[in-house]
Amino acid sequence: MLTSFLITGHGSLNAFLHARGLSETAGCLCGNPSEDWQHVLCVCPLYADVRDLDGLRIQQSTSGDWIVAETLMNQDSMELLENYARTIFSRRRTLRHGQPMPDTH
Ligand SMILES: [Zn+2]
Repeated sequence: MLTSFLITGHGSLNAFLHARGLSETAGCLCGNPSEDWQHVLCVCPLYADVRDLDGLRIQQSTSGDWIVAETLMNQDSMELLENYARTIFSRRRTLRHGQPMPDTH
């Protein structure tokens, strides 16, 4: 598992909260039905401009699963992951508080 990512903010994602009755929705602000760490880390368009899957050494298998084993084996990609997590969780907080959406087009 993505240790740093989880420590930084996994517990505040809606899919996690919703499963425990702590959020009214499991969905993401972008409209995706589930806001889980894989969505936020690998897919969500709200963070596309700061995402660097190559740098993070994250790969997608032919079956669509995200492979993060390489990320955890490498110092550089772990640091990148920490920075990415910090960026997206601070952006997420801003979005939640009714700020204008960033231009994702
Ligand atoms: Zn999203």
